[in-house]
Amino acid sequence: MTDPQLAQDSCELYNVKRWGNGYFSVNDQGNLCVLPEKREDGPKIDFMKVIAEIKAEGIPFPTVIRFHDILRSQVRLLNTTFHEAIAENGYQGRFFGVYPIKVNQMREVVEEIIDAGAPFAYGLEAGSKSELMAVLAYNENSESLTILNGYKDEDYIRLALLGRKLRRKIIIVVESFSEFELIIRLSKEMQADPMIGIRTKLAVQGSGRWSGSSGDRAKFGLTSSEILAGIELLRKNGMVSCLKLLHFHIGSQVPDIRIIKEAVTEAGRVYAHLAKSGINIEYFDVGGGLGVDYDGSRSATNSSRNYTVQEYAADIVTCLQQVCDEMGVYHPNIVSESGRYVTAHHSCVITNVIDIIHQTRLSTDTTAKGDEHVLVSNMRDSAEKLNLDNYQETFNDIQQYKDETTSAFRFGVVSLEERAKIETLYWQIIHRIYGILAEVDFIPEELQQIEELKASQYLCNFSVFQSAADTWAINQILPIMPVMRLGEKPAARCSLVDITCDSDGKITNFISKDGYEQTLLLHDLQPDEDYYIGLFLTGAYQDVMGDMHNLFGRLNEVHIYCDDDDPSDYYIEEIIRGSSAQDVLATMQYSPDIMARSIKKKIDSLVHKGAIIPREGVRLVDFYEKCLAGYTYLKN
Ligand SMILES: *Cc1c(COP(=O)(O)O)cnc(C)c1O
Repeated sequence: MTDPQLAQDSCELYNVKRWGNGYFSVNDQGNLCVLPEKREDGPKIDFMKVIAEIKAEGIPFPTVIRFHDILRSQVRLLNTTFHEAIAENGYQGRFFGVYPIKVNQMREVVEEIIDAGAPFAYGLEAGSKSELMAVLAYNENSESLTILNGYKDEDYIRLALLGRKLRRKIIIVVESFSEFELIIRLSKEMQADPMIGIRTKLAVQGSGRWSGSSGDRAKFGLTSSEILAGIELLRKNGMVSCLKLLHFHIGSQVPDIRIIKEAVTEAGRVYAHLAKSGINIEYFDVGGGLGVDYDGSRSATNSSRNYTVQEYAADIVTCLQQVCDEMGVYHPNIVSESGRYVTAHHSCVITNVIDIIHQTRLSTDTTAKGDEHVLVSNMRDSAEKLNLDNYQETFNDIQQYKDETTSAFRFGVVSLEERAKIETLYWQIIHRIYGILAEVDFIPEELQQIEELKASQYLCNFSVFQSAADTWAINQILPIMPVMRLGEKPAARCSLVDITCDSDGKITNFISKDGYEQTLLLHDLQPDEDYYIGLFLTGAYQDVMGDMHNLFGRLNEVHIYCDDDDPSDYYIEEIIRGSSAQDVLATMQYSPDIMARSIKKKIDSLVHKGAIIPREGVRLVDFYEKCLAGYTYLKN
């Protein structure tokens, strides 16, 4: 049992309630746990129990853990929230959501979403030919929609028309004008009855990271003239009744609700004008963009959003309703393509800390020698004179000495031994200034970097590029915290570094109680204990976007279902092994077989020459082959 107050403090320190959306909490053992039903008195899945079971199964870390119940819960939430907004406002259309599979294409994820969405006729969205083939095979519900976006070639459209022959509600969304002609020609050729949508290019400029998806220079979408010309073309071919949907998408993770309202109103006008001219558009598709509050700040910043899902749904319904009522046209069905909101919370990456990189692990004897370089004696003087009155001045001085040492060393005037002394003295002074800062009320801005300078680097068994691509590529914030010892006050200020050889392979931006910090508070490592930390909200995009930097491949995966009757409230439904070294090598055109043979040949020839004894030779070959078949991450 841990002190509930301390557990509470940890919860606040890591902002769990704010980004967790009700799914995460700290239990009486001081471990992070998942609340699949968002209730403290409901089932609780303890991360440390899951980790113990994963270890017992012999599955090495890092591991992705998926909580299927969270996925199901988010699907339900999105649908019921729209249903409620529609009912409350007396809106006359219905809601049809579709899940865009690009957000997480993993088959198990898509299957779970379809299953949880069945009562709501929740459909799928595809943006490429391969995705289209997946959604054709998986969305069998004749009630739910399949929406097709992205640029299309003839085969793409033929596949869509094949789906129409299977009686699916497949809507081809025209993104560029030439697609009208293609759809008309191929529909006649295949004697199929297409359902057509049009993507309108809105003038409203999205905000946030993906604002390039809308506005006049957006890649996708039709201008007003193109829409009118397209309708004329359909009319000439007797196909205007095929036009079923109006679509827009202003970009992902829209931080500001105002943008969404403006977009709905603008697209609503387009819809109403078309409806007034007698075109029977059944569906109004608001695309994606519903944001996730990654940093828990509830603000209009890039890693957050200034609205709730309830507000999002209510604003879409009422903005559209207002335009329709004002222009005297019927209320269309509303379609949403939210993907990030549905998948972000359900998965996380658990990794172990391998080592701590201290700036000051080893020090050198710094006693004076007669003929030492003046930089060494300057540094020693600074150390000797440091006091409560001159610490800022001292800090400035030693920064300068340190920089000068680098140049002097390059020019060959400072020896390696002298440089070691200077480094040692420098870090001793930094530590002492850090101690002084703890005593004073005011810390000048310049000195705030000491915190960071002093921070240790915790070396974690993962690759930023594989598991947290967005933190590197677009500076996306992810919640990161230990999953254990949350009943203890953490005292080590750290940044996190990964095991790739890339200097970008680190995380130095963390959520703090108010804003961001460059370091994270973690616990000191204990000699005989594995220390586990989690990267959370990785279920959207990050999960499937990882790259092959340094040939670390996909992670092991564990799929968890909640089971209230189980003593631990969960069971592991499936374990999927991550990439082996030979898997990732093969994707880069290497042949692991040839590699193994070439090593064996070399060893055989050395055995032949008597340089290696046969028994040893066999062992080396076996070891090489075992490593090829093994996990790419560090063994623990
Ligand atoms: C990416 C994308 C989505 C998903 O957006 P989210 O912000 O993840 O919900 C929806 N529609 C289209 C057309 C997209 O390109």
